[in-house]
Amino acid sequence: MGAINQAITVKNLSFAFSGLKVLDDVNTTIEAGKLTFILGRNGSGKSTFLRLLAGLLAFKNGEIEILGNKSSQLSFAERAKITGFLNQQHKAVFPFKVEEVVLTGRAGCINFIPKKSDVAMAFQAIEKVGIAHLQSRIYSELSGGEQQLVMISRLLAQNPKILLLDEPTSHLDFTNQMNLLRLLKTLVAEGLTVVSVLHDPNMAFVFGDDFLFVKDKQIIRSTPNFEPWDAGFLSFVYQSKLEAIPYKGRAILVPQIKVVTG
Ligand code: ADP
Ligand code: MG
Repeated sequence: MGAINQAITVKNLSFAFSGLKVLDDVNTTIEAGKLTFILGRNGSGKSTFLRLLAGLLAFKNGEIEILGNKSSQLSFAERAKITGFLNQQHKAVFPFKVEEVVLTGRAGCINFIPKKSDVAMAFQAIEKVGIAHLQSRIYSELSGGEQQLVMISRLLAQNPKILLLDEPTSHLDFTNQMNLLRLLKTLVAEGLTVVSVLHDPNMAFVFGDDFLFVKDKQIIRSTPNFEPWDAGFLSFVYQSKLEAIPYKGRAILVPQIKVVTG
């Protein structure tokens, strides 16, 4: 067996918000060149974990290695070349055009004067996400789903090696969800590493390569004993009774329905 190519290694990571422990001695790895989904219940710590990977939260205990670099030692500019982060919520404050918002993805430094190549990369990213029709619109006037796609384009314009996405499909209609997840698969096929928090385990199992679950302050992963789509395992993770329907060697999960009659 050859060595597994790790994009991210997390060792003995603990994190708390002023006394509230969110992660307790987490050890996990994320493979390079894969689409990894992070799943788990509300408040389990998915966003916190992703923000830690993105270098947006300082931690005292443990270590995060990103493409062989100690996370704590990366400068802002170095980090921007390696990881791109999509926030769960994004606020539109200034009335910038979409193309200007996407171009700011190229701003790896504070004194940013865009070059021709930066503008070209921004337009390439806009094309790739399929929002060329929005490029001259005002960002703050777009729908939540459209804004989400603009932020994905901005991230692609940044051109990082690892995308860290927090619920990228949350505001998208069914078609745009599928389009975005297909795009993530394409990006992975082109060599990117994508790590994404997702609410819908079924979409994750249709599109993903690897699955991490945040549960009881731990990051857990499937083992040879239970597949990530195992109904018993997922009923435990989601604390709700689920049934597994076989699908392409994996499974789709549906809730068990209990009808109470009077
Ligand atoms: P998830 O993304 O899985 O829904 P989060 O990572 O956002 O969960 O939150 C994990 C826990 O940390 C929750 O209990 C949440 O209330 C708490 N938390 C999140 N952000 C903060 C913060 N800035 N200050 C204090 N507590 C927070
Ligand atoms: Mg969250």
